[in-house]
Amino acid sequence: MKNRLTVLAGPTAVGKGTISSYIRDHHPEVWFSVSATTRPRRPGEIDGVHYHFISDDEFDELIAAGELLEYAVVHGRHRYGTPAAPVREALEAGTPALLEIDLQGARQVKDRMPDALFVFLAPPSWEELVSRLTGRGTETPAEQERRLTTARQELAAESEFDVTVVNDHVRTAAQELIQLMGISASD
Ligand code: 5GP
Repeated sequence: MKNRLTVLAGPTAVGKGTISSYIRDHHPEVWFSVSATTRPRRPGEIDGVHYHFISDDEFDELIAAGELLEYAVVHGRHRYGTPAAPVREALEAGTPALLEIDLQGARQVKDRMPDALFVFLAPPSWEELVSRLTGRGTETPAEQERRLTTARQELAAESEFDVTVVNDHVRTAAQELIQLMGISASD
């Protein structure tokens, strides 16, 4: 089977990052897109690994040069975008490729690459989502409120996706995603 692009999206704080980390650790054969962002680096994040941390001007240049597959302002604040060329190269090389992006970005990819597999990562419940969001402790209360507003809207988008994976347990959800990508689970 030819590898196709998989797009993982879902409400904020649903655990997309945790699922991604699990897959990074257990499935090195999966290629991850590294997004460009204007958001400041958080402690522990590595430029070029977790994101390409760039300025607003640099982001404008990427847009002008047509180098982004998709981009969006996330949580009404910073811009995030997927560099197109590395995605194209991974797919041409037959490497299973994964984008972990927000809903607006997923919609843009759907317009441009309708054959991609669109996976919605859902929380077990709204209460669980709120507790994950407020428990993370890395954002200010105002930022948390902004993210909850986004999350409420994003939950309604599930029907636009090909398939839903519920993030009840990281390992189970990650393995479900891996199987959807056509990769056999290694453990
Ligand atoms: P964070 O700032 O917590 O790393 O990410 C915030 C949100 O931005 C997450 O929902 C993440 O999926 C989304 N995001 C990360 N990279 C991209 C990207 O390249 N494009 C879009 N549209 N969203 C992204």
